Amino acid sequence: MEENSLTVLGCSSATPNSVRFPSSQILHALGKYFLLDCGEGAQMQLRRAKIPFENINVIFISHLHGDHYYGLFGLLASLNLTGRKTPLVIYGPEGLEKIVRFLFQNTEQTLIFPIFFKTLPKEPFACIEEKKNYKLYSIYLSHRIDCWGFYYVENERERNISKDAIQKYNIGIEEIKCIKQGSDLTLENGDVIPNSELTTDPPRPFSYAYIADTMFKPELAEYVKGTRLLYHEATFLDNHSDLALKTFHSTARQAAEFAKLAHVEKLIIGHYSARYKSLAGHLQHASEVFDNVELAMDLYSYSPDRTPYCVWQPKTN
Ligand SMILES: [Zn+2]
Repeated sequence: MEENSLTVLGCSSATPNSVRFPSSQILHALGKYFLLDCGEGAQMQLRRAKIPFENINVIFISHLHGDHYYGLFGLLASLNLTGRKTPLVIYGPEGLEKIVRFLFQNTEQTLIFPIFFKTLPKEPFACIEEKKNYKLYSIYLSHRIDCWGFYYVENERERNISKDAIQKYNIGIEEIKCIKQGSDLTLENGDVIPNSELTTDPPRPFSYAYIADTMFKPELAEYVKGTRLLYHEATFLDNHSDLALKTFHSTARQAAEFAKLAHVEKLIIGHYSARYKSLAGHLQHASEVFDNVELAMDLYSYSPDRTPYCVWQPKTN
């Protein structure tokens, strides 16, 4: 799986159908794998996408509707069977730990690796993990039960200093640090070499926002402003907007309005109601509001700056 990409493992809402599994997706960035929701069959989809289970560092469960986490038990049991030793961090709603521990205790299985359950805070926007190069945030959504979105954002990186410049001007370690942060270089004779002659731009930081089940919450767009990749649930079309309100879900058009408000680079819509035979309406409605829209499809990989592609080659024998 390539860096800075999202692979959708499942994008159906409520029940699976013959081409779509329930919600699950995996984000790969800075060498880490974040599993976002774990609907039934997620481990099967991970196999198909050739993502080893043991690579998963963090699991994030948005809410306790079954289509978002019934696959967790099977995945954890498989991690046990394959001998995982590395600790696993699971972010989720209050109650998730109890449910998981209850299941394993009552089937007399002992998990052989440590799991650190972390309860998501009921704050509109909260930093849940801060590392040297990135931060994770939770976003409190508005669904029938407590539900959270997930936001991954990398820190700005230092500028790349050229080796030629270091040699040419015999630049010392302390000066290199300053130049990487944008300073110019002052030579002994007083000449100033501008930073632009010494460095090149670093890679743009990657960011991804996952807006799971929610009614349209435009006020949350400011939290993920400028994110490079956004997945927003789009369960319904305009003709079912009453149903969207009643069930605390969004329409494809609202997902696009959120993307527009947040000035994101690319929008992926998914979590389609099984009542729609075709997704043409979802794409059309969203595209009327926002330019860069992709339909989520199971086992497709998404990145801000390229066309999605399928990661699974079904075996024919
Ligand atoms: Zn739900």
